[in-house]
Amino acid sequence: SGESKKKKADLKRLIKLAIPEYPLISLGLVMLLISNSIQGIIPYIFGYVIDLAVKNQTLCQEISSGVINVTGPVPHCSLWLMSREVLVLVGLFLVVSVASMFRAICFTLAGERFVARIRKNLFAAILRQEMGFFDTNRTGELTNRLASDTAVIQSAVTENVSILARYSLQLIISIGVMFWINARLTAVLLSVFPLISIAAVYYGRKLKDLRKKYQDKLALASSTAEESISNIRTVRAFTNEMKLMTSYNEDIERSYSLGKVISFLIGGFSGVVFILIYNALCLILWYGGYLVYHQKLSSGELTALMLYTLTLAMSFAFISNVYGEFMQAVGASIRIFELMDRIPLIQDGALVRPSFEGEILFKNVYFTYPSRPDEPVLKGVNFSVRPGEMVALVGPSGGGKSTIVNLIEHFYDLTDGNILISGLNVKDLDPSWYRRHIGIVNQEPVLFATTIKDNIAFGKENATQEEIEAAALQANAHDFIMSFEENYKTLVGERGVRLSGGQKQRVAIARALLLNPKILLLDEATSALDAESEFLVQEAIDRAMIGRTVLVIAHRLSTVRNASKVLVLNEGFIVEEGTHDELLSFDGIYKKLVLHQLTAGEGEGQR
Ligand code: ADP
Repeated sequence: SGESKKKKADLKRLIKLAIPEYPLISLGLVMLLISNSIQGIIPYIFGYVIDLAVKNQTLCQEISSGVINVTGPVPHCSLWLMSREVLVLVGLFLVVSVASMFRAICFTLAGERFVARIRKNLFAAILRQEMGFFDTNRTGELTNRLASDTAVIQSAVTENVSILARYSLQLIISIGVMFWINARLTAVLLSVFPLISIAAVYYGRKLKDLRKKYQDKLALASSTAEESISNIRTVRAFTNEMKLMTSYNEDIERSYSLGKVISFLIGGFSGVVFILIYNALCLILWYGGYLVYHQKLSSGELTALMLYTLTLAMSFAFISNVYGEFMQAVGASIRIFELMDRIPLIQDGALVRPSFEGEILFKNVYFTYPSRPDEPVLKGVNFSVRPGEMVALVGPSGGGKSTIVNLIEHFYDLTDGNILISGLNVKDLDPSWYRRHIGIVNQEPVLFATTIKDNIAFGKENATQEEIEAAALQANAHDFIMSFEENYKTLVGERGVRLSGGQKQRVAIARALLLNPKILLLDEATSALDAESEFLVQEAIDRAMIGRTVLVIAHRLSTVRNASKVLVLNEGFIVEEGTHDELLSFDGIYKKLVLHQLTAGEGEGQR
């Protein structure tokens, strides 16, 4: 069927991905060959030693009872010969142990290298995706893929490949030696095995299905846990712990009930395997004993055959287990390959220019978010911001102001129309070039769980301490940073939780200023800061605007008064455009917004 063909293709690709580990894997295979060939003949040597002991016993009895006359030392009666054989065994075991050690090291190391490479590639593939992708994919699911799906693959390409090679070889060697010792007995024994094979294949399939379902349920629980923990402040504030616990417990219960079935299945199968193994041993003992009695088989040979039967059974059990795990790995790899192969829906341009003037021009822009295809957000927007000009964007919440900022950053492709930056279409520009000329400060700035210094230098890796401090000074952040014991090396905590709202904002402004951007995109904070903090943030912003092209989502009256132009955005259209005074004289949305201090109901800008 098509599905199994696809699975085979994925398995092939998985194996191909392991090719760089070829030297380690080959060395591992050589070690495997050495240890397994020796292990394969050890039961035979066991049998040989036993036969030697039995022979010795009869010989010595006959000498001492005078049946045979010997002169000089009696070599077979001494322990010497036995000791020699046992010493050989000890030597062989030593070789086996050393070879096994290297085999294990090679395969495990190859696995670690393999999974590290896959994880790096996968992470790169995730980061490459367009913004719309992240609107529809849950963070928890993506990180889960990176962590757990890759781990499943790792065990498949290392442990399982090694187990498969080891026990297949053991199976072949055992059967070969057994046939060599006694073909008829071996044939009788092997007649039982088709039965086990059928049971094993059925079991492998069933287990694979159950395991997959189990993983899915577990992933669900993980997403719930991740969301709760990363939003613990909101959870606690709304005393929602019990509810989330209940929901997590329900998810876990679901995976547990599958886990229960899996336990019974695994237990049941191992029971069946044991019954078959012991019966096979009894069969060998019964028929072999009969052959020994009729002197068609030595007791040492019988012992060797019993040991081989045990090896055979064990190899079989391992191989049947590996089948299930391979299938699980293929399942996991399908999801990983999908992600790795995904071509981002936005293709980045490559255009670079020596200079950047910082003019913004929207020409008849239509836009709809890909995750919400039947709700157009911008419906023919036209405006321009000339170099060095400060333009304010106002309008009721949900009107599309943040969307305009997203589009200037080329986070999304337009449905229709064009956005020109310095006269060039954004979709033709090399994003790593033009985004460096755009500074952005969000309403609720996001910081990373590292030092203040690294947060400021986020967009410019090789920034010097002087540059960082200069940016912090401009952003009114230097003083509070120096007041910390570890000043610029202070850790801000996850998403900056250890800083106050105003401090976070000033660090974010410093981060934007460090790039010395030609264009500044600002979203003024609506959340209330204390008066002093508010003043420091505003002073920093006002200073940052000087000499730059600025588009600001304004929530303050002072900002719109200073703007050379105010754009009023409502339901996807620019409904009014002009200076503050011009728009006030016109009895429209702007006047209403001003009466409500620009953001309705939030009481801002009254100072
Ligand atoms: P504003 O900034 O003026 O408050 P936005 O630009 O944030 O408005 O939102 C405009 C519209 O786009 C809203 O209806 C909002 O629900 C929708 N929207 C915003 N971001 C997304 C997104 N990532 N995916 C889908 N729809 C979005």
